[in-house]
Amino acid sequence: MPIESITVSEKLLSYIRSVSLKEHQSLRMIRERTESHPCAKMLITPEQGQFMTMLVQLIGAKKCLEIGVFTGYSTLATALGLPEDGKIIAIDRSREWTSRAQRHWAEAGVEHKIDLRVGEGMELIPALIENGHAGTFDFIFIDADKKNYENYYHLAYTLCKPNGLIMVDNTLWRGTVIRKDCEDLSARQLKSFNTMIFNDDRVNLTIIPMADGIHLIRKKETTK
Ligand code: CA
Repeated sequence: MPIESITVSEKLLSYIRSVSLKEHQSLRMIRERTESHPCAKMLITPEQGQFMTMLVQLIGAKKCLEIGVFTGYSTLATALGLPEDGKIIAIDRSREWTSRAQRHWAEAGVEHKIDLRVGEGMELIPALIENGHAGTFDFIFIDADKKNYENYYHLAYTLCKPNGLIMVDNTLWRGTVIRKDCEDLSARQLKSFNTMIFNDDRVNLTIIPMADGIHLIRKKETTK
C-alpha cells in the first residue's frame, strides 16, 4: 500500500525546519520586525520563502510580478533567487506596509531589482497589459485580496509568458475549503477559484499543501 500524505504536526514542522531551513538574515529580520504587526499572519512561512527562492532559480526567472507585498518578505525571497539584472514589479495598495518593505529591501541590497507600485491592483495590473507587458513575465505571485483572485488570475495569465509560472497563495485557507457549510466568504471564494483553475485547460497545475496551500500553475506553450 502506498503511504498516504503525512500530517505535518507542529513538532514535525519544527524538525523539517531544523534540517532544511536556511533563512537569509534579511528575511529573518523582516519576520522579526513584522511579528508584532496586527496583520503578522499575512507573512508567508519561512519554508515557503525558501521554496520561492528555489523555484525562481529553477525556472531561471528574470522578470517577475508580485500582487500583494505586505512588508516585503515574499518579494525579498523572490529577489534573492533572481540574477543581478532580474526585475520584480511589486504591487500593493498600502503605503504604510510598502514603506517598511522598501527599507527591508534596501538593507538586503536588492532594491535595484524591485519596482514598487503602490495602488489598486485592479488598476495597476490592467495598466501593465496596456503598456506592453503581456506575455513577458516568467513568474507571478498572487497573494492579495481573495475576492479579486479570479480577476488577478485572468490578468496574470495574460501577463505570463508561455511556460511561465503563476503561484497563488492561501488556496486551502486553513483547510476550510472542504467545509460544506462554510460561512467564511474567503473560503467560498477560494473554493470557487480552485474549481475554476482545475477546469482551465490552458494550464497545468499542482497544489502544494505547504503553509496555507499553494497553487503552482504553469501556462501551457500552446492553446487550442
Ligand atoms: Ca498569503
